[in-house]
Amino acid sequence: MQPADGPGATRCLSHPHELALGGIPVMCSGCRARRDWLLINHGRNVWVCCRCGDQRLEPEISRADFDALIASPYGTIYSTVEEGLAALGFDGVFAGAYLE
Ligand SMILES: [Zn+2]
Repeated sequence: MQPADGPGATRCLSHPHELALGGIPVMCSGCRARRDWLLINHGRNVWVCCRCGDQRLEPEISRADFDALIASPYGTIYSTVEEGLAALGFDGVFAGAYLE
């Protein structure tokens, strides 16, 4: 058994609110959503995932930032990417939900 927060662990965090980097809200390049993110941390890297399926490596978010977000009262932590994706409906079911 590996600890869920070990250095090699993959952690997911829901982030229902806007995510500002340097004061600028992150916006999805796919569907222009500005909130309701899933953040994935593995090693030094943090990915930002949108419900539309768009996901990108976000170098401005460090592991320390991720740890700070996890410490906030907002997020829900999932120990695997699959668990997070399924629990949050990020499996593509809601793709296009923001499109009108
Ligand atoms: Zn999107």
